[in-house]
Amino acid sequence: MSPDPMLSLANVDAGYGETQILTDVSLDVGEGEVVSLVGRNGAGKTTTLRSIVGIVEPTAGSIEYRGEAITGLDAVDTAKRGIALVPEERRIFPELTVRENLELAAYGGATDADGLSIDAVLDTFENLADRTDNDGASLSGGEQQMLTIGRALVSGADCILLDEPTEGLAPYIVQDVMDAVRDLNERGITVLLVEQNVHVALELADRNYVLDRGEIVWEGGSSELEADEAVLDRYLGVS
Ligand code: ATP
Repeated sequence: MSPDPMLSLANVDAGYGETQILTDVSLDVGEGEVVSLVGRNGAGKTTTLRSIVGIVEPTAGSIEYRGEAITGLDAVDTAKRGIALVPEERRIFPELTVRENLELAAYGGATDADGLSIDAVLDTFENLADRTDNDGASLSGGEQQMLTIGRALVSGADCILLDEPTEGLAPYIVQDVMDAVRDLNERGITVLLVEQNVHVALELADRNYVLDRGEIVWEGGSSELEADEAVLDRYLGVS
């Protein structure tokens, strides 16, 4: 990891109302990295992403992006700085074509970061490039997921927080999404990836954090995690 991380959480507590979900969460994402956050259902992965973009406000700790404090900024302000949360549920306009969906996101995006052009996104997501004039509603689940990611990128994000992008997708589409994430990363996009599917995380990520009951219990490289059967078994239910 780079000495000055692009995105950094230090000792973050967060939750909903009186219920504390995250305790003392610290993690770093270097510019150009793919970092995964894995853990069982309900471990607090989505809550971590929501805390970064200001949907959930931390009650303790700090979050920095490109060396500036963003703790407590709202979702509009974090988006303007170039961070995009791509939620699990796909967010597209079903009645608009693929190109219109991308154009609308590009038009609406006013960020400090550069993101990717519509052409670069279509280059990455070949399935979308073949369907630019089709309505969003006609796309498969995997294609809708790709369009959701593409919309975040053309709106100017250069750091994307992907919340279970492969959830509910057929295995061959999972591979397409993984290839696309790798390609985006090669184009300079930094990725924090939340995954239920540890194999996807291991294959894509440079480094991984394991979250258990709101706390980071392990961090390290993918080959280290792959070899650590105790961690895989105890926190991730695989071995
Ligand atoms: P999953 O894969 O199930 O989404 P996760 O690791 O992303 O798991 P979170 O969605 O962050 O976990 O949920 C962590 C805990 O916070 C769970 O106990 C969940 O019930 C609770 N929670 C999530 N959203 C809310 C909310 N809006 N209000 C209250 N509690 C919530």
